[in-house]
Amino acid sequence: MTFDEFPFSEALKEGLQAMNFEQPTPVQEQTIPIILAHNDVISCAQTGTGKTAAFLLPLLHNLLTDNHAENKINAIIMAPTRELAQQIDQQMEGFSYFVPISSVAVYGGNDSQAWDVQKNGLTKGADVVIATPGRLLSHINLSKIDFSGIKYLILDEADRMLDMGFFDDIMRIVKLLPTDRQTIMFSATMPEKIRQLAKTILKSPQEIKIAVARPPDSIMQSAYICYENQKLQIIKELFSTQEPNRVIIFAGKKQRVRELALILKKNGLSAEAMHSDLEQRQRDDVMLKFRNGRINILVATDIVARGIDIDDITLIINYEVPREVEDYVHRIGRTARAEAQGMAITLVDEKEQFRFKRIEDFLGKTIYKIPLSPQIGAAPAYDPKVQREKTAHPKFKNHKHSSRNKGKSEPRTQNKKRDDKQHLHQKHAD
Ligand code: AMP
Repeated sequence: MTFDEFPFSEALKEGLQAMNFEQPTPVQEQTIPIILAHNDVISCAQTGTGKTAAFLLPLLHNLLTDNHAENKINAIIMAPTRELAQQIDQQMEGFSYFVPISSVAVYGGNDSQAWDVQKNGLTKGADVVIATPGRLLSHINLSKIDFSGIKYLILDEADRMLDMGFFDDIMRIVKLLPTDRQTIMFSATMPEKIRQLAKTILKSPQEIKIAVARPPDSIMQSAYICYENQKLQIIKELFSTQEPNRVIIFAGKKQRVRELALILKKNGLSAEAMHSDLEQRQRDDVMLKFRNGRINILVATDIVARGIDIDDITLIINYEVPREVEDYVHRIGRTARAEAQGMAITLVDEKEQFRFKRIEDFLGKTIYKIPLSPQIGAAPAYDPKVQREKTAHPKFKNHKHSSRNKGKSEPRTQNKKRDDKQHLHQKHAD
């Protein structure tokens, strides 16, 4: 199918051409007709599937063909992070270049001038507002904003928004909007809490599910089985034999990201850290440098890396095994885009072996284990079950086969997760 089969105006088609879009992706093919028919929709699709255009194109078409209030906000698009809001805004700019639709991006971390631009857009009635929930609420608290013209509400990466603790913020905003509107929700996963949210704010939605993408075969996946204190040596050794070029190293914690970037720099490598504690200006600066090749290694946490759209990454390194299988798939999906070849290497210490095994189980295959060089020393055996027994918390050690205690050990991770989320929420509350 081609985009010509949609009833888009010539001006919108020009935008598509300028963006080099020829054929719709599956999520676009399935979602666009539903939005054009003014139905609510919940679409289960990840970043990289073309989900942004799947809602922007029909939204623009509907705004152009239906009567819309000129000096009022007509649509709100909510996204969890500044980076994602920025990316939506950039695509919006591309598609709407030839059409008379105005938009404003409302996210935090920028200067007072940007605040004024956002306030202007909100109070004067930009047609489309692309916002992070926290920042939009800050404006709502300080200015009188007229939402009576809203006909469209779009939630992008809804699961991530809930994970970051934005449920209450979203609901506060939704309560200010007219109930007679079209609501569109995108989510990479469909847990119960997303279904609940959908029940609360969508009306008889149609559901689209784009199958959870397994990593393409063009990604060469491998792992080092090692001790924690060997990880740094492995990285240094890797880059002593080959010059790093467009590499992303993922680590779970900001502190680790900062330390790693520093150590790599001290070792003469061109690396920068990317995490949510950085000011917006610094983040933009790091991303720009990485995009145009002035730095070769980006050391990043998941939270900022998710949704970032950078092509031709040659190597992804997981400094730690990601907690969730989805995060693994998502991280390594940053490489081998657009049918290029890519490599993904995961460093697995004893405590992480069991988690890594879960990833192998999900993929349905064994990932190649690269032997350590003699300089780095002996590695632990890869025996996830035994390692799990050894590293289990003493309190749970003798009980882990009882279902009762399995249940007991759950809240520990959940609490930790909640703490992380709380932290994230604070960081992103603007
Ligand atoms: P998204 O999943 O919306 O983040 O999109 C991922 C990337 O694919 C972005 O760089 C888009 O510009 C690009 N893209 C999305 N849809 C198409 C399409 N139909 N044709 C070509 N590129 C696309």
